[in-house]
Amino acid sequence: MSTEITTDVVVIGAGPCGLFAAFELGLLDLKCHFIDILDRPGGQCAELYPEKPIYDIPGFPVVTGQDLTDNLMAQIAPFAPEFHFNRMVNSIEKQEDGSFKLETDADEIFHAKVVVIAAGGGSFQPKRPPVEGIEAFENKSVFYSVRKMDDFRDQDVVIVGGGDSALDWTLNLQPIVRSLTLVHRRDAFKAAPASVNKMKEMVAEGKINFLLGQIGKLDGENGQINHVHLTTDAGDLSVPATRLLPFFGLTMKLGPVADWGLELNDNTIKVDTEKFETSVPGIFAIGDINWYPGKLKLILSGFHEAALMAQAAKKIVSPDERVVFQYTTSSTKLQKKLGVA
Ligand code: FAD
Repeated sequence: MSTEITTDVVVIGAGPCGLFAAFELGLLDLKCHFIDILDRPGGQCAELYPEKPIYDIPGFPVVTGQDLTDNLMAQIAPFAPEFHFNRMVNSIEKQEDGSFKLETDADEIFHAKVVVIAAGGGSFQPKRPPVEGIEAFENKSVFYSVRKMDDFRDQDVVIVGGGDSALDWTLNLQPIVRSLTLVHRRDAFKAAPASVNKMKEMVAEGKINFLLGQIGKLDGENGQINHVHLTTDAGDLSVPATRLLPFFGLTMKLGPVADWGLELNDNTIKVDTEKFETSVPGIFAIGDINWYPGKLKLILSGFHEAALMAQAAKKIVSPDERVVFQYTTSSTKLQKKLGVA
């Protein structure tokens, strides 16, 4: 039998924008449950760049993806949102009373008065390079993201790609690895010029190797690679490698979101800019998943969207309650909710 959960708000996606929504909803006494495909909070910040510095979060001159996630979790802790990880929301159905029924692939049914879609780019998966047998090495010695830099310490690392991820990890890992080879099929990069220049300096200083070419076969056993074969203009090469990081981009799959009957703009959900409500009243979309004229896919945009969405959600959940605008600095009522007064 399915597990049934009833709550004020279901937030689909526990990325940074979804997490901050729990704060704004909590200040208005709205209880929320999160559902996320991943096994932990943080969305892209925790999954794709936990140790990378972010420089444009207001009030934090620099914060890593994981630290931002941890801080958001601490900030929303007073409201005790509940998390349901490792499951995907498959369907949303509007009920006759205006509420919503959501079903997950973990055989659960959620009933909520409001749904907030904070699903980012949808379910994202790294693109796998066309290398025969690579699956056998994945998550053992071939990785598509860097979760813990220490896993690369004193290793012979081969990074493949010419985008920001490839360049950033070349620069960030170089100081701790035994050797680092960057492989790209051309001498032109789709990365920040400063990173490209820095990488070229490191090549000139002999700190890293750069090879123009493509990866072919992998040698190794029991999931552990020992050599990567490359096809280069100068002929075929075999490079010693104990870690391979191919950065061939991500496939962002909108997934089931596309089937929920919402008005879309390409792979994003159309919303208004007053409430960030979708074409279905009671379903809101915030963060990277939404679209409106001028939309910027930045975390700070999602924070603003969450604040306005929460005001509108409150009116749906408690239509007879008057909401008085208050500051957290001066409202004892809000401070009590936060457990600081
Ligand atoms: P996400 O972080 O994408 O989270 C969405 C969550 O929804 C995911 O956890 C996903 O698993 C879940 N989900 C999706 N579909 C479903 C479903 N059907 N059921 C259940 N769960 C679902 N932004 C900045 O502002 N500054 C930066 O410096 C910056 N640097 C970046 C660097 C890199 C390398 C990358 C990749 C992005 C960067 N960004 C930066 C962009 C930033 O990470 C995104 O804007 C932000 O993560 C969007 O947050 P979100 O909460 O909307 O979605």
